[in-house]
Amino acid sequence: METAKVAVMVGINEPFEIREYPLTIPEEGMAQMKLIASGVCGTDIHIHRGKIPVALPATIGHEFVGEVVNISEKDSVESGIKIGDRVIVDIACPCGECLLCQNGDDANCVHMSVTNGGNVEVAPHFYGGYGEYNYSPVSNLVKIPDTLDAKMTSIFSCAGPTTLHAFRLAKDANEHVERANVAVVQGAGPVALFAIMYLSSLGIPNVIVLVPDTERRPEKAELAKKLGATEVLSIHKLGMENICHHIHELNNDMGADLVFEASGAPIAVAQGMSLLRNRGLYLIPGQYSNSGGVEIQPQLITFNALHIIGSSQYSISDVHAYLKFLEENPHFHETILQTARCYKVEEINQAFQDAEAGKNQKTLLVSS
Ligand SMILES: [Zn+2]
Ligand SMILES: [Zn+2]
Repeated sequence: METAKVAVMVGINEPFEIREYPLTIPEEGMAQMKLIASGVCGTDIHIHRGKIPVALPATIGHEFVGEVVNISEKDSVESGIKIGDRVIVDIACPCGECLLCQNGDDANCVHMSVTNGGNVEVAPHFYGGYGEYNYSPVSNLVKIPDTLDAKMTSIFSCAGPTTLHAFRLAKDANEHVERANVAVVQGAGPVALFAIMYLSSLGIPNVIVLVPDTERRPEKAELAKKLGATEVLSIHKLGMENICHHIHELNNDMGADLVFEASGAPIAVAQGMSLLRNRGLYLIPGQYSNSGGVEIQPQLITFNALHIIGSSQYSISDVHAYLKFLEENPHFHETILQTARCYKVEEINQAFQDAEAGKNQKTLLVSS
């Protein structure tokens, strides 16, 4: 029987184990995909460090993009997905029945389960992102349009929908993000980069990126600018007071219309709040693990009547919206592809080491 490799997390901060398991025929309702590209997400690094608990051993990873190699005739007819199609595997399984699901907010389902939580020792073995194959419910597959390069779509396949979901919540709350004159993005990781692309695609005149230090990794600032940032400012170099003053100059002596937190640093929340104008919008999808507390000034929320929106997961509809965004913005494609550094599945430990050291813009596992 044909076998394939999968990288298995066996312990917190321990090297991944490369195992080989047989490839089986997927049961009805499931499909088998061959790896094209699968990203290492910041969330995976938190999981590997033990900050987000999972049952071990496990195949982690949730950004699998692959080619369908096995799907039943019945599933193919019902889903419109056929052998040879390239798909993004969405791991989220909302219950469909809880209060939030019933209200059209399935991203925040209170009984959420995931497709990558299966026991790696039990067939079909390949549940998560870090394998040469993946088995997934057909209902979790999103077909990639023929016009898009599949590897390119994998790069922001989690960060993109995460970002778009936050903006969707803003729209649902009657915010008109496209009317902003000054938008600030905190951070320069994948979620921040996608937010920069999105904001610049809306034609917002000032998309300002805040990073702790532009000198340590100048290539990050360059990339942010290529994707539409009008300025990349160093907090270390300028200080928050000067940055705040600069924003007021740009926005008729007011604070920023919108701040988007994607740095994950708790201090960023206190800083972001201080930059907003009266009735400014603060979107916070970036605080994805418990990195400790920070002192904030709650009076800003009241006195400036801030509008604060948290956002964590995304819906399958956000994955569709993500692919639509890529189709509508082909001028970004080449730059997006340049952010990726590729490794084979068996090079997972090197990939993680480099990702954790901040060496890569985006770390991808690809087929060998
Ligand atoms: Zn992710
Ligand atoms: Zn639910």
